[in-house]
Amino acid sequence: MRALLPLRSSIVVVFVVVLVPFITNPRGVNSSSDAPLTSIPLDLYHTSDALLKEIKSLVLRHPDTLSMETVKMGNRGYAAEVLVVTYDRKTKHDNEKSKFRILMSFGQHGRELITSEVALQLLSVLAEEHNILSMGPVSITKELDNIVIKVVPMENLNGRKLVEAGDLCERRNGRGVDLNRNWGVDWGKKEKDYDPYEENPGTAPFSEPEAQIMRQLAKSFEPHIWVNVHSGMEALFMPYDHKNTTPDGHMSNLMEFLLWDVNRLHFEEKCLVGSGGGLVGYLAHGTTTDYMYDVVKVPMAFTFEIYGDSEASSKDCFKMFNPVDKLEFNKAVNKWSEAFLTLFRLGPSRLATTYGLRKWDSMGGKVIDGSLESNKENKIDGLDLGMKDLRNYFRLFLLSSVLLMFMFCSRISKSKYRQTN
Ligand SMILES: [Zn+2]
Repeated sequence: MRALLPLRSSIVVVFVVVLVPFITNPRGVNSSSDAPLTSIPLDLYHTSDALLKEIKSLVLRHPDTLSMETVKMGNRGYAAEVLVVTYDRKTKHDNEKSKFRILMSFGQHGRELITSEVALQLLSVLAEEHNILSMGPVSITKELDNIVIKVVPMENLNGRKLVEAGDLCERRNGRGVDLNRNWGVDWGKKEKDYDPYEENPGTAPFSEPEAQIMRQLAKSFEPHIWVNVHSGMEALFMPYDHKNTTPDGHMSNLMEFLLWDVNRLHFEEKCLVGSGGGLVGYLAHGTTTDYMYDVVKVPMAFTFEIYGDSEASSKDCFKMFNPVDKLEFNKAVNKWSEAFLTLFRLGPSRLATTYGLRKWDSMGGKVIDGSLESNKENKIDGLDLGMKDLRNYFRLFLLSSVLLMFMFCSRISKSKYRQTN
């Protein structure tokens, strides 16, 4: 954690921790339930409306590189809308399917406000309105020419509104479903410590419009990298969340190497790296990243946890999940924007080098474990079809033989009967 606080900050911390309870509570009786809860510092954080407005104006100022769409869906009296921003430097190769594709979602959990602030910062850097000190905009231009990035800055707008209305611990969507438990891999399985307030998976896989929108987006865009951005701790996770192991095979190693590089280059190797289920301390079922990897076949699927205050009271949700002072806030938005740029730089070259690929459209986002999964599936399907046909012909042959035998025998027995009667 942040063990190296400057001396002045330490004095402030001592003052706050030791003296403030005595000032606010003259009897000197302090219990954690009496501790004041941190409210949203509006000098640091945008409201959801202000943040989305700022992103929309940013897009309008950069029609050459940014575009956007709002996707709306609803069911059973509940409606959701998701803003999707596309970053694509227009070059002579204008087809997004010929480029390396990255899909990122921020704000899937309502209370994790810092993630959407990172989305805004990252888009400003990509639009070259904001420079990051350690890397000038020029240094990444070449790589960015060949990449299309789709950013969902606030996946769970309805849940976020509840947080802004004062329910600071709310992580679920506008009708109480955890959007990171509503996906189809291992959906609905409940661990012994299952907490419906935190992890309600919904009435069925993809019961929630937000999850349906994200699935549709992923299936049509076919990303090579997926990143689900959360907060609560600092970690770089890869599949799986529903079991405590990483997938087998070469792609798994590639993901892990890439995460370790990001960890080394930006976080002094302090982030946890590995399987979400293995490292987070509990198994999670029906998560987005497991589905992206197992079903959508995104070659590199990640969950990044970008900030956490493990010393905050468990009731003080805002402080647990979001930085509350300017220094920490700026540190989080800047260093994670830098880390994402590294991911954009290293990801395509690693995947291309590993598979000797020159064109991204040939992959279709389906490279898993060193083989073209789509081809493998087709081959298996073809073989299966042949075997099925043979089996069916054989069954038909048997059935018709039995029928012929039956007709023949009944004729004999009828003629016999007639003969006896
Ligand atoms: Zn989260």
